[in-house]
Amino acid sequence: MLVILAWCLQASAQRRTVAITVDDLPYAGHTRTGLTLGDAAIAREVNHKLLMAFKKYRVPVTGFVIGTRADSPESKSGSDILREWIRQGLDLGNHTYSHADINQLSVPEIEDEIVRGETIIAPLMKGAGRKVEFFRFPMNHTGDTRVKHDTIFAFLTLRGYKLATCTIDNSDYMYNDAYLRILAEKDKRNAQRFRLEYLAYTSSEIDYYASLNKRVLGYEPPQVMLLHDNRLNADVIKSVLALFEKKGYKFVSLVTAQSDPAYSIPDTFITQYGWMWGYRWAKELNVKVDGRLEPEPPQWVVNSGRIPATYTASPR
Ligand SMILES: [Zn+2]
Repeated sequence: MLVILAWCLQASAQRRTVAITVDDLPYAGHTRTGLTLGDAAIAREVNHKLLMAFKKYRVPVTGFVIGTRADSPESKSGSDILREWIRQGLDLGNHTYSHADINQLSVPEIEDEIVRGETIIAPLMKGAGRKVEFFRFPMNHTGDTRVKHDTIFAFLTLRGYKLATCTIDNSDYMYNDAYLRILAEKDKRNAQRFRLEYLAYTSSEIDYYASLNKRVLGYEPPQVMLLHDNRLNADVIKSVLALFEKKGYKFVSLVTAQSDPAYSIPDTFITQYGWMWGYRWAKELNVKVDGRLEPEPPQWVVNSGRIPATYTASPR
C-alpha cells in the first residue's frame, strides 16, 4: 500500500511542468533607454550566466524584449545579446518598445508600443527562420478599462500574437535592487546570505502558487515562472532551476505550458494590477481566494529601505 502511494505521489510529482520566462531583455537595468556603456559589460556577463544555466538544465526559455534597450547607438551589445539567445534556440517575445505602463497610455499609444517593439525583434527572429509568437504586457498590466483591454486583445490577436501569461512570481526585481546595494558593500558573506534568503522566498512562492492554482482549478496546471534578466538571477539561476527539479517539475516551453485547457479560460477580468493568473482564474471561475496568505518579501526589500545591520559590511 505504502509502495503504491509513494509511486502515485512520484508519478504525480513527475507530471508537474513549468515554463521559465525571463522579462526585460537584454538587461533589466534602471534606465528606460538603451543600455549605457557601463551597463553593457554587466549585461553580457548576466546573460552569459543565464544562457549557460539554461543550456545545462535544457530549459526552453522565452525571453521578453524591451525594444529601446536594443535600439540605441550604445546598444549594439543589446542586439548581440538577443542574437545569443536566438542562437541557443531560445524564444524571444515582444515586451513593448519602451516598457511604459499601459494604465497611463491610450489605445493608439499602446498599439504603437507593440508595433515598434516588434520592429526590433522580428527581423532578428526572421533571420533565424522564426517568428515572434508571444506578447507580454509590462508589469502584466492587461488593460485597466474594458475598452482598452478588449481593443488591445483584439489587436494582438490580429497581429498573430498569443498573450504570455505567468502563474508564479517572486518579486525578483525588488530583491535585485536590494542585492545590488548589498554587492556595493563588498561583503561576500552577506551577499551569500541574501542569495539564500531569496531562494527560500522563491521556494515559498512556488509552493504558494502551486497550491493556489490547484485550489482554483482542481488540479495543478503547467506553471509559468516569471523572472527578470538581472544580476541576482544570473548569480542564482542554477539553484532556482535545481529547486524546480527538486520539487518534481520538468521544464517545458511556454507554448507547451499554455496548451493546457486552463489557459483557454477567457480573460475578461479588468484590473489595473499585474496579478498572476491564479488570481485571474479565481475571478473568472468565481472561486474565493485570500491573497493576504501569500508570503511577502521583507519590508526593507519592498520599500528599498535601509539595509539591515546583518547585511551591512563589517567595519574595516
Ligand atoms: Zn518588464
